[in-house]
Amino acid sequence: MTDDGKSLDRRGFLKRATGAAAAAVPAEMHAQDHGHDHQVVPSDPALRTKALESLLVEKGLVDPAALDAIVDTYENKIGPRNGARVVARAWVDSAYKERLCADGGPAIAELGYVGAQGEHMVVVENTPKLHNLVVCTLCSCYPWPVLGLPPVWYKSAPYRSRAVIDPRGVLREFGTELADDVEIRVWDSTAEIRYLVLPERPAGTDKMSEEELAALVTRDSMIGVAKVAAPRGGKP
Ligand code: FE
Repeated sequence: MTDDGKSLDRRGFLKRATGAAAAAVPAEMHAQDHGHDHQVVPSDPALRTKALESLLVEKGLVDPAALDAIVDTYENKIGPRNGARVVARAWVDSAYKERLCADGGPAIAELGYVGAQGEHMVVVENTPKLHNLVVCTLCSCYPWPVLGLPPVWYKSAPYRSRAVIDPRGVLREFGTELADDVEIRVWDSTAEIRYLVLPERPAGTDKMSEEELAALVTRDSMIGVAKVAAPRGGKP
C-alpha cells in the first residue's frame, strides 16, 4: 500500500525502489569519505534472503525459531573459539602443529571440529617474514566449524576486491603494519577449500597454559587481518 492508502502495483514498487537506490548513492560516496557504511537500501542478497525466509516460513517448511538457533550457534557458541583452541594447541604441541600444517582437516577433527564448510581445510602459518591473509573474492566462503559465521566486512565488495589488489593497505586499515620485507600471501577461499591462518605466538607467553593462550587468539588473527597481541602486563 502507498502512503495515501492506494495499493502499490509492481511498476510503482520498482519506481520507488529505483528512487530509493538513487538516494542511496550519496550515502555510499559519503561512506568512502570516512570509512564506514551507511546503507539506506538493504542489499540485494539481504532482500532475497528475507523473501526466501518469509516464503519458507509461510509454507510451514521452516521454523523461524530453528533458524534463530542455527544463527546463534554459529555466531556466538562456535564463533571463532574453536579456531582459537586449534591455534593454542599448535602453539604448545609441535607434533600437532606439524600435522595441522600438513593436512588441516584431520588435525582440526582431532579436536572434534568437523562439519559443513570445513571439509577441506588448509592451515597457513605466519612467520616473522611471511604473513597470510584470507579472502573469498567470489562471495563469502569461510571455515564455519572453526570460525563460525563470517563478519560483515569479510563479505563486503571492498574487502573482497582490495584484499587482493592492495593487501598491505587493507592490513594497515585494520591497524596491522607490516615491515616492507615481510611477504604477504593472499589466499582466495573457494567452495572446496577453506583457510585458517595460524598466527604467530606473541612474545611473553611462555608460561601461559593452552587455555590462556586460546583466550588471546582473535577471529581477525585467524583471517589474517590482525596479529595476536601480547597479553597486557604479560606473564614473564
Ligand atoms: Fe565464497
